[in-house]
Amino acid sequence: MDESLKKTLHRDTLAVREAVERSPFGENSEALYLTSGYVQRSAESAAQRFAGDEEGFTYGRYGNPTTASFEQRLAALEGAEACMATASGMSAILLMCLGLLKAGDHVVCSQSMFGSTIKLIGSDLAKFGVESSFVPQTDVSAWKAAIKPNTRLLFAETPTNPLTEVCDIAALADIAHNAGAQLCVDNCFATPALQRPMALGADIVMHSGTKYLDGQGRVMAGALCASQQLVTEKFLPVLKSAGMTLAPFNAWVMLKGLETLDIRMRAQSANALALGQWLEAHPAVARVYCPGLASHPQHALAMQQQSGVGGAVLSFDVKASSPEQARARAFHVLDALRVLSLSTNLGDTKTLCAHPASTSHGRLTEAQRQAAGIGQGLIRVAVGLEHITDIQADLARGLETLP
Ligand SMILES: *Cc1c(COP(=O)(O)O)cnc(C)c1O
Repeated sequence: MDESLKKTLHRDTLAVREAVERSPFGENSEALYLTSGYVQRSAESAAQRFAGDEEGFTYGRYGNPTTASFEQRLAALEGAEACMATASGMSAILLMCLGLLKAGDHVVCSQSMFGSTIKLIGSDLAKFGVESSFVPQTDVSAWKAAIKPNTRLLFAETPTNPLTEVCDIAALADIAHNAGAQLCVDNCFATPALQRPMALGADIVMHSGTKYLDGQGRVMAGALCASQQLVTEKFLPVLKSAGMTLAPFNAWVMLKGLETLDIRMRAQSANALALGQWLEAHPAVARVYCPGLASHPQHALAMQQQSGVGGAVLSFDVKASSPEQARARAFHVLDALRVLSLSTNLGDTKTLCAHPASTSHGRLTEAQRQAAGIGQGLIRVAVGLEHITDIQADLARGLETLP
């Protein structure tokens, strides 16, 4: 499709149309190119391609046409110049850090980020001399106060897992740019269907494609969206040497997932809001964390930043008088489920329920968990596409028979 026509098209159209050129066979659904190598036209052309002076594929670790289609489609949805796909969300974060940071550099992150992100940046990269500070997600002044002369990167995730805390992307972009640093946003929970961080000033958008981009819980994937310059000069060289390449089959699943992303996100978010309202009125529930509810502390910011939609993940605390009782009650609710899945994944059309304190956040110390506000009575629900009445009834089984 030529660039001038592409510029006139809406995101919904690009979500189903943007891809590399069709093959001479004229397939309507994008082809899945399962190949690790490529046959070169001539020795001279091969030399040019390896030198980066001619467009074209050379080796599966460096690129693949199916993967390129996924990258182009996601970049179009995020409003980014370019995108680099990776094998998982965590490998996208590793690729970004290896590409942008060196020993002696400093990163500022929210203390409520995804557990593995805290581990990777706070512990694994610390071994290589990368410093980090973890600040309260919603406190803009704390982000500002954490800036040091060697700060190169601010890394935010909004809404967060599992408490759905929302940070102000535009405010963090200003802080980063005033300090000569870059802002990366993990856009896993909102997806470009609801939130486009680059339009708010973010330099990089990171994805775990494993979640809503696939949307049906099938394969792992990750991605970084950024300027063409960052992708070509900082990320591609690391991908080539470190090899966190996305498999073509997984890229193809992602490509197909993006076609229905918008309608899935809106339908699942509507289910989540209805479930949040029901839980908030339930006598066994102490508190509900759901950006779509007026009771959410950053409700107004979430509505403005996320196209008026709260997202499909919510969490709630069961009422209890001690951490031990809270854990027993949360386990009772989860063990009573007969339809919904007890699973730590999210972003599936099937509703998934989990106990963060003993699973996704189980590797954190008690102090880190408390700093992140994750209690023993907390249950996270990644709401899917089942009928809302059935979702409520399945949770009611445990909530109405608490020990
Ligand atoms: C799952 C997740 C990741 C990590 O992605 P993987 O694909 O599991 O490696 C990062 N950030 C958030 C918010 C996630 O939910």
